Amino acid sequence: MDYSSLKNFKETAGYDIDGVWYPRVTKIVDIKAKPALYRFYAEMNNFNEGEAVKKQSASEGTLIHEIVEKILIGEKPQIDPSVSPAIEAFLRFLEEKNIQVDSEHVEKRIVHLDERYAGTLDSLALIDGKFGVLDIKTSQAIYRDYNLQTSAYMSALQNDFKNLQTRWILRIDQIKNCLKCKATLREKGGRKKIKLPWNGKSYDYKSKTCEHEWSELKGDVELKEFPCWQEDFEAFLGAKKLWEWENEYWLKQIGYL
Ligand SMILES: [Zn+2]
Repeated sequence: MDYSSLKNFKETAGYDIDGVWYPRVTKIVDIKAKPALYRFYAEMNNFNEGEAVKKQSASEGTLIHEIVEKILIGEKPQIDPSVSPAIEAFLRFLEEKNIQVDSEHVEKRIVHLDERYAGTLDSLALIDGKFGVLDIKTSQAIYRDYNLQTSAYMSALQNDFKNLQTRWILRIDQIKNCLKCKATLREKGGRKKIKLPWNGKSYDYKSKTCEHEWSELKGDVELKEFPCWQEDFEAFLGAKKLWEWENEYWLKQIGYL
């Protein structure tokens, strides 16, 4: 990514904490290639359309994220009707799984002083008797790449939380199901995406020929635990090294390198 000025770099790529600048975890993990993006852009009419879809999709995700965060700190936020299926499903899930969140650690800024990076934690939670990092995503699936980000949080929290045991991704999304087959429809960024059931070899024949009939919009919530984080953290540090190499020009001016 190109930055317009040192000020712009410092603001978008890092945090100033007690007068010291630290790069952001999310910027560092962005250095990793995302091959799925090529496919996404290839499905668009042109680059600008791709950018617009991505932007709108991100703001829909942010809306869900913001409401969820308010709920986690005990507020009762206004729920925009466009995301109410996702939020309703999230509320049911919180209750069913008895997920306990300490409001003090929602959207909390964290710093790794030795490795020199900072980030913002979604929350710390107690689930099934275990205490860990809970990161919220609004994607259509849980991707392995998320483990880089949360491993960085795990390592940064080691000193302050000796009882930290694990980490989870909580995915919150909303989809429509086909009433006649197992296909799902996801609308994000003004784009409809149909997913056919995949049996490991091919798409389900019935789904391929089905004239889908879509249900009401439904919440789709998934929780996945990733207890082993050390290897992911090694990979994060590798990504950080590469990110520093790419941004050497700015980092030297800051005195970070
Ligand atoms: Zn169908």
